[in-house]
Amino acid sequence: MSTVNRETPRPAAGRAGIKKELPDHFKDYRHVWVFIELERGQVHSVSFELLGEGRKLADKLEVQLAGVVLGPPGEAIGNAIAEAFVYGADLVYIVEAPLLADYRNEPFTKAMTDLVATHKPEILLLGATTLGRDLAGSVATTLQTGLTADCTELDVDTDGSLAATRPTFGGSLLCTIYTLNYRPQMATVRPRVMPMPQRADKPVGRVIQHKLSITEDEIVTKVLGFLPDSQSATANLAYADVVVAGGLGLGAAENLQLVKNLARALGAEYGCSRPMVQKGWVSADRQIGQTGKTIRPKLYIAAGISGAIQHRVGVEGADLIVAINADPNAPIFDFAHLGIVTDAIRFLPALTEAFTRRLSPHNRDKLAS
Ligand SMILES: Cc1cc2nc3c(=O)[nH]c(=O)nc-3n(C[C@H](O)[C@H](O)[C@H](O)COP(=O)(O)OP(=O)(O)OC[C@H]3O[C@@H](n4cnc5c(N)ncnc54)[C@H](O)[C@@H]3O)c2cc1C
Repeated sequence: MSTVNRETPRPAAGRAGIKKELPDHFKDYRHVWVFIELERGQVHSVSFELLGEGRKLADKLEVQLAGVVLGPPGEAIGNAIAEAFVYGADLVYIVEAPLLADYRNEPFTKAMTDLVATHKPEILLLGATTLGRDLAGSVATTLQTGLTADCTELDVDTDGSLAATRPTFGGSLLCTIYTLNYRPQMATVRPRVMPMPQRADKPVGRVIQHKLSITEDEIVTKVLGFLPDSQSATANLAYADVVVAGGLGLGAAENLQLVKNLARALGAEYGCSRPMVQKGWVSADRQIGQTGKTIRPKLYIAAGISGAIQHRVGVEGADLIVAINADPNAPIFDFAHLGIVTDAIRFLPALTEAFTRRLSPHNRDKLAS
């Protein structure tokens, strides 16, 4: 068993050696905006995570934090506005129109780009969800501005520029990207990369309405219906409180059952490293890491996973990381809070049995709370 300090010191944001006068018209662009994503009428949690991050940026820049809600008239939009204030927005821009009932790229891009052109935010943040990625790309292209995708850190440079940090070179390096020539500065962040902010006691704020200037005739995409995705509907890895994952050290596809058994005993979700997906042993929506899901559980148990940097970036937000690995020199022991050096194939059934014996369903709920 070993305890390690997981805080890796990182240099502060700063453009060493790059000096550039920002154009005068950049002064017209002010305030930090966060796109509040509605997913079948519910606000996606990544929007709240981004409001928390946006608040920090806005405070540093001494500007306002705004939420942007796009959707059809109805209860959902009202709830989204209220939630945006609860999580720190000073004001909310809304475009309310029946054409925005289901996500389609054209009307959403039109709504967002018109809003940006009118009110000129300096920073625009979106969640790196399927919808957010699609919208961010087309908004950035239409506005001809820079977009940094899948950021892991956001900060403000001494001249007020957004310093957007993300992994590069297959995750082995972090790079900080600046949009020096264009505005707004856009960035996407994956769910669970940023922590949830505190809810405000007395949320108040202004709502600014904007009209949608596109008609159904101008929209090529038509929504014919929705087919539920049975696999991803069951995998709620990103927001699970307890996650058990298996890696190549399990040796064979059937040994994943040992991970699933432990997950069931703990009322947890199960996940895996990338090679497990590449081998076809586990579906892609269970992959954890840089090119999979980012998780922030209270407890993460990794069995037979080496702890490569691309896996590490997806799990380091966990409160408690327990690693089970046969090799005492495995990199995962550099960032795990608890390390168990043993054969996972033999250890997992014993651990499952011990938990099953000790955890009644009532105690299991307590573990997750
Ligand atoms: C661009 C890019 C993106 C990537 N994205 C991801 C990503 O999102 N997620 C991800 O996970 N990886 C990702 N990878 C792959 C990553 O670099 C590693 O190759 C991968 O994480 C290794 O998976 P693993 O730990 O399961 O396997 P291995 O590295 O093979 O490690 C197996 C571990 O199991 C241990 N072991 C062996 N037998 C036992 C046993 N009986 N009991 C206990 N322990 C045992 C070994 O000591 C070893 O540490 C990415 C790579 C690239 C280049």
